[in-house]
Amino acid sequence: MSSQDDDDQCKKCGEKYMSEYDAMYKWCKSCQINNLKQNFTNWTSENEKIDNLIQEMQLEINELDDMIFEWIPYDQFDDIKEIGEGSDKVHLAIWKDGPLDYDKNKNEYTRKQQNKKIVLKLYNLRNIINEFFIDQDKKYSITYIGEVLRIHGISQYPNTEDYIIVFQDIYCVKCGKIYTNIIKEWCEPCKINYFKENLIRSGNENIDNIIHEMQLKIDYKSDIIFEWIPYNQLSDIQEIGKDDFDIIYSATWKNGPSCYNDREWTRKSNKVVTLKYLYNSQNVIKHLNMIKFNKYSKMYGVSQNPDTEIYILIFQIYIVKMR
Ligand SMILES: [Zn+2]
Ligand SMILES: [Zn+2]
Repeated sequence: MSSQDDDDQCKKCGEKYMSEYDAMYKWCKSCQINNLKQNFTNWTSENEKIDNLIQEMQLEINELDDMIFEWIPYDQFDDIKEIGEGSDKVHLAIWKDGPLDYDKNKNEYTRKQQNKKIVLKLYNLRNIINEFFIDQDKKYSITYIGEVLRIHGISQYPNTEDYIIVFQDIYCVKCGKIYTNIIKEWCEPCKINYFKENLIRSGNENIDNIIHEMQLKIDYKSDIIFEWIPYNQLSDIQEIGKDDFDIIYSATWKNGPSCYNDREWTRKSNKVVTLKYLYNSQNVIKHLNMIKFNKYSKMYGVSQNPDTEIYILIFQIYIVKMR
């Protein structure tokens, strides 16, 4: 034990933090394990095997982002809906109090995710034990590992021998199917549908094809979604400066850009954007092809003034060199 640097060791037990990350938020594994052990007497499933299983899962905690595995009384669930069939049958529900999360400001565990959507899956006693300790392919984990489901805890269906595994909601709110990327809550078929249903045509097939191609490449990492923006969507167009060749304008985009937020596709309306006019309209395809390969272009899309037929590139931000 070193006492030279007391920022890298726990004030309570004196043990060294396991990582800089733990030290930053004063998360001490030994102390957390002690807290969990001391709390063992404050809950019970009334079944020794289940209690042991929960205790064992709790003590697997290794990082501050790990789930605190819990015994969750059934009356904590609300709005329970059955989905799926046969062995895939599960229930969607709301967990009133929600899980314990480590509050990085207070340096303690709190429940801030009230009414959290979760999934319930029924097991009998023997199967639930197997699910955790015999099955080699881990289906559930308290930690983030690949596509393994993050698990919150165990509950019991009232007046039965049936237990319930409570895990993260993995079902797309739109189509009800399992997310193609569970961790990012991203549904690829729903993305494709969204852009199909919301496709705005430019009247130029080449342009539409490029835009469509760019939209198919959008994934959960994309912060900007490229599209055709009808000219009548732009208002309050004002000159803001010049770059080496062009005059740059700002405008308000009425409907605003598409974005994926809180598991749904929406638009951020009345977005202020920057416009750059392409006075040589033959260049539009060349420009779009260049943008297609540049994911850092920060461009929302392209528009066209129907009177002048001049194409307009629409940027999120455009650095204007004033002259
Ligand atoms: Zn400690
Ligand atoms: Zn979906």
